[in-house]
Amino acid sequence: MKKRILVSGGAGYIGSHVSVELIEAGYEVVVADNMSNCDTTGIEGVRKITGRTDIPLVEMDFCDAAAVERLFDDYPIDAVIHFAAFKAVGESVAEPIKYYRNNLTSFLNVLDAARNHGGCDVLFSSSATVYGEAEQLPVTERSPRLPATSPYGNTKQICEDMLRDVTASDPSIRGIALRYFNPIGAHPSALIGELPRGVPNNLIPYITQTAIGKRACLSIFGNDYPTEDGTCLRDYIDIVDLAQAHVAAVTRMLEGRMKEGYEIFNIGTGRPVSVSELVTEFERVNGLKLNYRFAERRPGDVTAIWADTALANEELGWRAKRTLAETLASAWAWEKHLAGE
Ligand code: UDP
Repeated sequence: MKKRILVSGGAGYIGSHVSVELIEAGYEVVVADNMSNCDTTGIEGVRKITGRTDIPLVEMDFCDAAAVERLFDDYPIDAVIHFAAFKAVGESVAEPIKYYRNNLTSFLNVLDAARNHGGCDVLFSSSATVYGEAEQLPVTERSPRLPATSPYGNTKQICEDMLRDVTASDPSIRGIALRYFNPIGAHPSALIGELPRGVPNNLIPYITQTAIGKRACLSIFGNDYPTEDGTCLRDYIDIVDLAQAHVAAVTRMLEGRMKEGYEIFNIGTGRPVSVSELVTEFERVNGLKLNYRFAERRPGDVTAIWADTALANEELGWRAKRTLAETLASAWAWEKHLAGE
């Protein structure tokens, strides 16, 4: 019998790529999403790529405890990958109650339903934002978590702690938190990718939208940072590589190979890339010129962060494979696909 994975928030950017990789690795997938920040492009793409037109999409809100219980009643679930959350840093500062209510309640409901249904494995989608402005680079999983600078970041820390405490109290629930660095790019089929609503906050969608003519000019936030070229350093991880890390982590849980009831892994490439380098590489790979200018620093941005990936490499048997060039080509192919080119 195939194991069944519930993917909460599975219609979104990361969830759709993870659903594809899970199916290709031989898992059954149930996608559940309230569709608050996406349309059906993602799930349709997943069905098309995998040829599995029967993948269920359950439209529901994870803040609705009764609905989450019903979902677990309706489907026997072996593991949950929890993505369902709000993710806009700036909005979380303006509307903290909305963020705390949604991101914490939905995860509590998942943990509670898992416990009420005899337990299951839980993978939480966390973020390198928990490290803040790290003193030592690259960061390892043992690097200190610094006080969060936004309610969004704080919900990631609190959810990690919820998973740690629940797994400690109940042996029927095991958990892994994956701390993502900067996920970018799109599936090589160009059938799924990032679909930001309105003006993008993140760098890559801003770049591709500028290149296609939807935005006039990219602002590079700050060129006076203490880095070689003055722009910030990040660890950009290909979305398909990132998705495959989820398959490795879920399989580790389901096969009982965890060393502790709760584990944490950094998911990145281990390679720092500056904003200017990224822009130059995007231009080179895709053979175009991007309109950009240097602008003020963006409040809240850290100078530099990248991952030590040794633990994920060793324990998950996973490593990032796609080159930055391939990833940037995939991001551009996706933007052109959206434009109908
Ligand atoms: N960035 C930029 N212009 C933009 C968006 C982002 O220069 O329009 C920079 C940002 O300052 C950071 C990097 O790109 O150094 C990555 O930002 P993003 O928002 O994609 O991810 P973050 O690292 O903030 O999670």
